[in-house]
Amino acid sequence: MTVPRIPFARPTFGPEASAAIARVLESGWVTQGPEVAAFEREVAVYVGSPHACAVSSGTSALHLSLLAAGVHAGDEVITVSHSFIAPANAVRYCGATPVFVDIEPATFNIDPARVASAVTSRTRAILCVHQLGLPCDLTSLLEIARRLGLMLIEDAACAIGSEILRGDKWERIGRPHGDAACFSFHPRKLLTTGDGGMMTTARPEWDAAFRRWRQHGMDLPDLARHAASTVVVERYLDLGFNYRMTDLQAAVGRTQLAALDSMLARRREQAEHYRESLEDIAGLGLPSERPGVHTNWQSYCVTLPEEADVREVMQTLLDHGIASRPGVMNIHEQPAYPAGSWRMSGGLAVAERARRRGLMLPLFHALSPADQGDIAAVLRHALVDS
Ligand SMILES: *Cc1c(COP(=O)(O)O)cnc(C)c1O
Repeated sequence: MTVPRIPFARPTFGPEASAAIARVLESGWVTQGPEVAAFEREVAVYVGSPHACAVSSGTSALHLSLLAAGVHAGDEVITVSHSFIAPANAVRYCGATPVFVDIEPATFNIDPARVASAVTSRTRAILCVHQLGLPCDLTSLLEIARRLGLMLIEDAACAIGSEILRGDKWERIGRPHGDAACFSFHPRKLLTTGDGGMMTTARPEWDAAFRRWRQHGMDLPDLARHAASTVVVERYLDLGFNYRMTDLQAAVGRTQLAALDSMLARRREQAEHYRESLEDIAGLGLPSERPGVHTNWQSYCVTLPEEADVREVMQTLLDHGIASRPGVMNIHEQPAYPAGSWRMSGGLAVAERARRRGLMLPLFHALSPADQGDIAAVLRHALVDS
């Protein structure tokens, strides 16, 4: 087996990341501690949130946010099927049922016009996904959530550094605009800690619950116990989890956050390069930002013309040493989602077409303009010349 010359994604770590890990190892404190606390403060400042709580993954962030929103057995949460599987799984961890609504064809994000008719007496929350980093229509979703008395949780797993225009000010995703926003730091995302996640919220009582639940329901953090000059014995107040981020991860995350603005600028240039090289191919749909929205360009997903065979196009790319991935999955099409484990409202035709026609091209910090030129040329060859 040969590895493709151009991988699909690859994280970039500077020498400062290795130095940060060495510093943590030498400190003797490797799990959740001072580095996690510093990373949380820095992310809170970056996104403009009063609180930020680090956890082990984006999925654990979603789980704890839904618990804070009061999602329990028998409840329903309105979300999208057209997404990585984690948000719907998190709904099911709470014993609740995901109710899938379709996406907008232009943005691949939840269609706010379809939300109100999906609401029942059991609906507790809306879980919107900023797909591939492109912000949802938060203004409409917030209006609907407030009007109907629902919590709004943002799956911002992909959206660190993305922005929306509110009034005349650009605000970062994670401020948060809903009741909580959940980030992932998996290596497929723009900012990575290997694995990791973060919840941001403006509600102090939610932040307090997050801090307890990520650490087994314990009433004081390890750091506080360690620093106490009198003997303290912890108590366990409610059912918690081990969802801690480690200081090793947080130290890497801090170096990634320091580099984020340059990573965002580079991604924006790369997306522009793809657009210029591909926009004249007939029938090929390219991702774009609507007015009032800045994506972080985490991924570049094109929509192939109806007559193209996605597998064949991917094979042609691979034959030229270029890795690619199918478009975003649909959760309701997976074996883990048998009938009865979910509900839908209004059909999922847009999601099904998006899945069938989607193709993700390589996009990562070290991808060179020459590589992008090669990718565009092979894609053109696959679609136009054959
Ligand atoms: C990556 C991702 C997640 C899960 O994040 P993990 O950190 O891998 O748990 C959740 N939702 C979406 C939309 C994602 O892309």
